[in-house]
Amino acid sequence: MEKIQMSVPLVEMDGDEMTRVLWQQIKDILLTPYIDLKTVYYDLGLKKRDETADRITVEAAEATKKYGVAVKCATITPNAQRVEEYNLKQMWKSPNGTIRAILDGTVFRTPIIVKNVKPFVKTWDKPITIARHAYGDIYKDVELKVEKKGLAELVFTGEDGRVTKEVIHDFAGPGILLGMHNLNQSIESFARACFNYALDQNQDLWFSTKDTISKKYDHTFKDIFQEVYDKEYKDRFEAAGIEYFYTLIDDAVARVIRSSGGFIWACKNYDGDVMSDMVATAFGSLAMMTSVLVSPEGNYEYEAAHGTVTRHYYQHLKGEETSTNPVATLFAWTGALRKRGELDNLDDLVQFANKLEKAAVDTIEEGVMTKDLAILAEGDKKVVNTRQFLEEVNARLIKSL
Ligand code: NAP
Ligand code: MG
Repeated sequence: MEKIQMSVPLVEMDGDEMTRVLWQQIKDILLTPYIDLKTVYYDLGLKKRDETADRITVEAAEATKKYGVAVKCATITPNAQRVEEYNLKQMWKSPNGTIRAILDGTVFRTPIIVKNVKPFVKTWDKPITIARHAYGDIYKDVELKVEKKGLAELVFTGEDGRVTKEVIHDFAGPGILLGMHNLNQSIESFARACFNYALDQNQDLWFSTKDTISKKYDHTFKDIFQEVYDKEYKDRFEAAGIEYFYTLIDDAVARVIRSSGGFIWACKNYDGDVMSDMVATAFGSLAMMTSVLVSPEGNYEYEAAHGTVTRHYYQHLKGEETSTNPVATLFAWTGALRKRGELDNLDDLVQFANKLEKAAVDTIEEGVMTKDLAILAEGDKKVVNTRQFLEEVNARLIKSL
């Protein structure tokens, strides 16, 4: 078979620990034998980040803006213990945070569905994608402990010196206070990323806040989404036969549980934090959750939602075989290759990505799986290690090519 050719390279961001091992195995077993893989390679492994004073992360994000599509391996976000373990010059920031800030992106998380792992919610037979706004609200708040009787006010001083004031509460005794903010520009970017992604996936978009109670703050989110939709997206949504739907967060929660899935649910920062863990857990396994960062300009960065699977890596270092699930990392690659194929009109690359995903799903549905899934799956199952799993996928891929 002749190898599939690529015209524009992918930005490849390598990472850490067990996922770095999976990364190489996926490339060796499932990608390079079939594709003349063109990538611009950035090593975001912690050692390299430390050597370059984290310059490499910034360069990788900038390359993503240049080329449009990136695939990223999980990376360590250093804490005090990692600073010691890797003898770091500094406690470098989370690479995902750095990349997200440069791309101004929104993260969309989607579960990979297999028939023999049943979601806890019986009616969910299609994936539910959560889009979480990644700026502001309580994640950038200011808090105060009120110790005694006194008046709390919200004060805004304009550039021109004019002051606007609102009484928050006249405290008779101790209590607590919180101030938070958001930016119209950030909400607009979030809205555009969601509308673009809904068109890209050809799925309905739901958005929910608590605007009946929060008549200015949450209502601004609702209004901005509606304005952006009416001005820029309404015609395209109608042409695609998809819907934009706004409802209150509590109503959304009830509807989501009764739904059969197959839509994108846009959430404010805190709601997205909570709901993405709820949806991920209800679908089964973190190892089956993919993630894509989409910028308002239409740049895409694909990755697995899980971390570097440290516990398995220490087993691997001892020379033990591990049964780490490579599916989410594999889907990061297929997502990126498919997007590259769509952008560059390379139908064989798109077809290859689809066939590779199907081979992975078929493998699991035929009962061959890693340990994490075996605990959850129904029916007959054969537990394999990571390499055996990838080889089983390869055997099915070869048949479908
Ligand atoms: P983790 O790597 O997601 O792993 C947590 C546990 O979940 C694992 O120990 C394992 O459970 C299970 N698990 C996760 N992925 C799996 C897979 N593919 N196959 C099988 N089991 C899987 O989270 P963590 O241990 O909290 O974090 C480890 C490192 O990852 C940290 O340094 C953190 O900074 C980093 N991290 C990076 C990202 C990212 O780059 N996007 C995201 C999160 C965390 P068992 O041990 O029970 O088998
Ligand atoms: Mg969380």
